[in-house]
Amino acid sequence: MKTLDLIVPCYNEQAVLPLFYEAVQKTLQTLPDYQTTLIFVDDGSSDQTLETLQRFAAQDSRVRYLSFSRNFGKESAMLAGLRASTAALVGILDADLQHSPALLPEMLRAIEEGYDVAAAKRVDRTGETKLKSRLSDAFYKVANRMTDVEIDPGAQDFRVMKRVVVDALLSLGEHRRFTKGLFSFVGFRTKWFPHENTARAAGEAKWNFKKLFAYACDGILAFSDLPLRLPLYAGGALCGGALLYALIVLIVRLCGKGVSSVHAVLIVLLLLGGAILCAIGLLGAYLARVYTQVKDRPDYIIRESNLKR
Ligand code: UDP
Ligand code: MG
Repeated sequence: MKTLDLIVPCYNEQAVLPLFYEAVQKTLQTLPDYQTTLIFVDDGSSDQTLETLQRFAAQDSRVRYLSFSRNFGKESAMLAGLRASTAALVGILDADLQHSPALLPEMLRAIEEGYDVAAAKRVDRTGETKLKSRLSDAFYKVANRMTDVEIDPGAQDFRVMKRVVVDALLSLGEHRRFTKGLFSFVGFRTKWFPHENTARAAGEAKWNFKKLFAYACDGILAFSDLPLRLPLYAGGALCGGALLYALIVLIVRLCGKGVSSVHAVLIVLLLLGGAILCAIGLLGAYLARVYTQVKDRPDYIIRESNLKR
């Protein structure tokens, strides 16, 4: 029998959990070939989420849960779920039914066809405010320009993965994880499933502007060291500008026209500022290497091989 673990991060989801459980049950009934375990991760909820999960577990041996000591965020909840998973196939989906469990059979079929990952991709923006859509578009544009992984703006955390992919994700020991980027980083053959945005079945979204901004910053900082090297470029530009300025002043002077000594002071100031920025950027360039080394991401990930040890 094939094994499947479904990871469900939950933060204050008491309102939606019974609906979610019912929907998943319905889907699982159509998948008799899979021995499924539901791994709920209670991310420090302050409502009855944990009690609800305990109730599910008491009546259903396929339900497993773990509960955090406080709210650590969805990224940590997903990581805990991945670490707890043991099945050959692992899925992640939100508790609020925005990630429709009804898509699971199709996703599993794609994996059987030979894909390593079956992932959902948002095709519309229903139910999202214009501001959120704009900011999100801007984030992906900036992030994809600055970083060396390509993150699809529609890519969602909703996916089913083979064990080899989960192992690759877990081999990355970095903290403050930006899982969307890590999914891209590890690669593997992915089939995308167009997925329509639906409103939450019950309860409220847990994201606010501050949380989303911090998430966006984490995404860029985890995958780009450009911000550390930026002063080097700024300093270089400033020094170049100062030299050009000096050249112009010199030419004017050589043409016999008088020039104010203020220009000399400005040129020295610009050169000095540029030199300081360059020095900071140089430190940044070294720090970026330390950062890369500390993250200790693998230089490559093997999908399969027939090498014998
Ligand atoms: N979530 C979590 N910890 C948090 C915030 C959210 O585990 O700190 C879970 C939440 O319970 C839900 C999923 O992550 O299952 C997505 O959250 P939400 O629906 O609030 O966000 P959105 O749909 O806007 O991405
Ligand atoms: Mg949601």
